Amino acid sequence: MTGIQQAFPSVFKTARHRYCMWHITQKITDKVGSALCRDTDFLARFNAVVWDPDMEPSEFEEKWQKVISDFELEDNDWLTTMFDDRHHWIPAYHRDLALGCILRTTQRSKSTNSFFKRYENHFGTLVEFWMRCDDYNSDHSFPELKTELPIEKHGAIIYTHAVFKVFQEEVMAADSCGVDDFEKEEHVHIIHVIDAETDRIFKVRLDLRSTDAVCECKLFERIGLLCRHIVWVYKGKGIGRIPSKYIVDRWLNNTHAANKLDSNGNVIEDSYMATSDNSHLCNVWSEFRQIVGVLKTLPAAEELASLLVEFR
Ligand SMILES: [Zn+2]
Repeated sequence: MTGIQQAFPSVFKTARHRYCMWHITQKITDKVGSALCRDTDFLARFNAVVWDPDMEPSEFEEKWQKVISDFELEDNDWLTTMFDDRHHWIPAYHRDLALGCILRTTQRSKSTNSFFKRYENHFGTLVEFWMRCDDYNSDHSFPELKTELPIEKHGAIIYTHAVFKVFQEEVMAADSCGVDDFEKEEHVHIIHVIDAETDRIFKVRLDLRSTDAVCECKLFERIGLLCRHIVWVYKGKGIGRIPSKYIVDRWLNNTHAANKLDSNGNVIEDSYMATSDNSHLCNVWSEFRQIVGVLKTLPAAEELASLLVEFR
């Protein structure tokens, strides 16, 4: 058992342990043979199935079985075991879990790979801590905007920088969305949004009375940020602010955590609370680092932010 495995349950008492996808996918060539990986499109097909957070479990299972049968891997014990343990590592089974897909990545630079080696499978938790502890930078500068959309500017004002970079990617990607179909119920529009990047269609249910929007991709449920599909729908409806319902406290910079008010103007989270909560998180992180003894410094902001962008 590594230091991290020992430290993890004692510090993060409510965390769920998951296998590291990166480690699993690193072993594939060894487990199925280099010829298969070199001479066929097995790896591309396998990766397309295991890394996709937009699949439901039933779709994953069907596609996995198809790959296994196409490449005659039914007798491969390692793959059979990994399939039996699929709940521990396949994103399709963590779609409703906050930050459940944060470990997803497909292409990384060398430096990123070494970064992953250092942080192993607790990257998601560390990312969350880092995003919360990024408040100092976020209070002292304003990030560069990349679109004309008012919703982007709103995100830049309220989120920490690290969180905003992830949200900004969604705003920019909304540009490549389009409509495939449209249904209308009494007060609800169901817009079938084409996502050009993944070549999939996601249905967004928009309640016209409240501006509540729910998207099938479940990005908000996973990471607490509006997805490109909802941003695109909001753009079409002229909604230029992130509705307060979709503003998750933990991603706010200190300025906005300090001033968080309800619709009557009452303080619902004062700055003392926000600061003490944040410093508690930083203390936990510091404790974790001491126990593990390997995480001497925090990763560079850009390095983490660029990784996060790949994780949607
Ligand atoms: Zn979506």
